[in-house]
Amino acid sequence: MTPSLSHTTPVLVTGASGYIASWLVRYLLEDGYTVHATVRDPNRQESIKHLLNIAEGLPGTLKLFAADLLKQGSFDQAMQGCEIVMHTASPFLLEGFSDAQQALVRPAVEGTRHVLEAANRTQSVRRVVLTSSVAAIYGDNIDARDLPDNRLDERHWNTSSSVHHNPYQYSKVAAEQEAWRLQKLQDRWDLVTVNPGMVFGPALTTLSQSASIDTLISMGDGRLRTGVPDLSYGIVDVRDVARAHMLAAFTPQASGRYLLVAGETSMLDMAKVLRSHFGNRYPFPRMVVPKPLVWLFGPLMGPVTRTFISANVGHPIRFDHRRSLELGIRYHDIHQTLQEHFQQIIDDGLLKQK
Ligand code: NAP
Repeated sequence: MTPSLSHTTPVLVTGASGYIASWLVRYLLEDGYTVHATVRDPNRQESIKHLLNIAEGLPGTLKLFAADLLKQGSFDQAMQGCEIVMHTASPFLLEGFSDAQQALVRPAVEGTRHVLEAANRTQSVRRVVLTSSVAAIYGDNIDARDLPDNRLDERHWNTSSSVHHNPYQYSKVAAEQEAWRLQKLQDRWDLVTVNPGMVFGPALTTLSQSASIDTLISMGDGRLRTGVPDLSYGIVDVRDVARAHMLAAFTPQASGRYLLVAGETSMLDMAKVLRSHFGNRYPFPRMVVPKPLVWLFGPLMGPVTRTFISANVGHPIRFDHRRSLELGIRYHDIHQTLQEHFQQIIDDGLLKQK
C-alpha cells in the first residue's frame, strides 16, 4: 500500500526531547509542520526548554503532550488528527539498571504495542515510522562472520540477543518484530523502519541519556586512557538519521527497513580522528588492548560480559547502505561528525576528566 499523505496534518513524534528526536522536531518545524511532541513529563522544564527554544522563530507549531510508553492509551490524545506517527521513544541504556526486562525490553515492546494500538484506534493515521536500530539487524559482530565481506543489510535479523545477553539489542529487535506483526493485522497504515548504526553528531539537548553520547564522552574523559578493545561498529550522523525519518515519512513509495550507516570505524580509529583534531589536550586512547586482557579484565571495569567480548572483539563488521541512498539519504563524513560532536561535548561542559 502506498499512502497518499496530505502534509497538512500534524505529525506525532514520540520521545520528542531525545537526542535523535530533537533534530527531527527541528526539521519538521523548519518545514512548517505542526508537531505533536510527546515527552514523559512536559512540566520538566529542563528536558523541554530546548524544544521550546527551537520552536521559537520557526514556521511550524509545537504542541507538547505527556505520554508514557508503559501506559496503555497514553498516546491517543497526541495522535488525534495525525497521518504520520514517528515512534522514536525507547530507552537506550547499556548500563545503570539491574533488571533488563523492566528497564529496556518492557518499555520498548509494550511501548511499541501501545503506540500501534493507538494508531489502530486513530482513523487519520496512514504511516508509522519506527526508529529501530542496527541492533535489530545483528546482535554481536560475530553474527556477520559467515557473510560475504562480513556485510549486513536489511534482510538480516538479530537472532543472537536475549534479555540476558545484549538486552538493549534484544529490546530493539523484539520491538521491531512486534511492530511488523501488528502492521500486518490491518491495512490502513503502513510501517517504515529506520535502522541506524551508532549515532553521533551535535546534540540539541544536554540531558539525553543516550548511550551513544556517553560512548564519545568516554573517549576523552580518561576512562579509556589505558587503551580500547579492537571493537568496530557502524556509525551515522544524528542529522542524517533525522533526515532519514523525514524521507521515510514523506516519500510515498518508502517501504520496509532502511539501514543507516555512513561508515564503519573502530574505537581506536575514533580516538585517532579525535586526536588529529584536538591534539593531546584530552587523554584519548592510543592503543588496542589485546583480546585476552580485555577478556580477563573487561568485565571488572565496565558493563561487558565475557560472552560479549568473545563475540565482538576482533570481529570485523560492515554494512550495505545502498537502500538508504535510493531513499535520498546523503551522509555526513564520519570524521566531521565525530569532531563536531566532541567539540560540542567540550562546549557544553560534559567532559569531566576521570
Ligand atoms: P535518548 O536521547 O535517550 O532518547 C530516548 C527517548 O525515549 C527519550 O526522549 C525518553 O523520553 C524516551 N523514553 C524512554 N523511556 C520512556 C518511557 N517509559 N515513556 C516515554 N518515553 C520514554 O536516545 P536516542 O539515542 O535519541 O534514542 C532514540 C531512539 O533511537 C531509540 O529508539 C533508540 O533505540 C534509537 N537508536 C539510537 C541510536 C543511538 O546510537 N543513539 C542508534 C540506533 C537507534 P523522556 O526524555 O521524556 O524521558
